[in-house]
Amino acid sequence: MDIRENIEKVRQQIVAAAQAAGRNADEIRLVAVSKTKPPEMVAEAIACGVMDFGENRPQELSRKYADFPNARWHQIGQLQRNKVKHIIDKAALIHSVDSLLLAEEIEKQAAKIQKIQNILIQVNITGEETKSGVSPGETVALCRAVSTLSHVRILGLMTISAAGYSATENGAVFRKLKELSAAIEKERIPGVLMQELSMGMTHDFQAAITAGATMVRVGSGIFGARNIEAVK
Ligand SMILES: *Cc1c(COP(=O)(O)O)cnc(C)c1O
Repeated sequence: MDIRENIEKVRQQIVAAAQAAGRNADEIRLVAVSKTKPPEMVAEAIACGVMDFGENRPQELSRKYADFPNARWHQIGQLQRNKVKHIIDKAALIHSVDSLLLAEEIEKQAAKIQKIQNILIQVNITGEETKSGVSPGETVALCRAVSTLSHVRILGLMTISAAGYSATENGAVFRKLKELSAAIEKERIPGVLMQELSMGMTHDFQAAITAGATMVRVGSGIFGARNIEAVK
């Protein structure tokens, strides 16, 4: 397994998908998902110019942040409210905000350290009951409610497609998130930005780029398969 080679390949695929969609590849940020992988692998990715890393577990994010404080750390997995205080000073972006209660806890902890925490609202487009994320129909209301919190800033939306979906089905999921983002933008909610769309993983990031992703979260495609499946 050659991390450098994998990163090179993913970058080429990002460029190809962007070009095919008539987009500039510079608009798309690669978030390398390093969950369950050792710091040596993170170091190797950093040596290849990767600056953004995604983690599911707050504890693991904290540990890796301590090793690599100059990288940008993204909390991409479900976040329990009692864990917010551990990552508030470390997370560049929290992708997984799906309730007002969680946003309010982020507000409380961010205010303590006088930080404005950038977040994305996670939307459950596929409707799977076990999956995190606010339903599409409730997303505008959640954005409005969160917009009143002065230490939390919404930069956009995030979604996860369903395992086992075809390329066509993934494409439909990602287009729905893009449409929702455009609809929210039209609402012109003060302080709410819709500039980021975090969507696409190893098996579906090209479809996500076609649909307008600005951040793709690629784990196994860079670091290899995970032995221990991290909690989603
Ligand atoms: C694990 C994970 C990823 C990366 O998945 P791969 O299939 O390994 O690329 C992306 N996003 C989230 C939310 C994840 O939990």
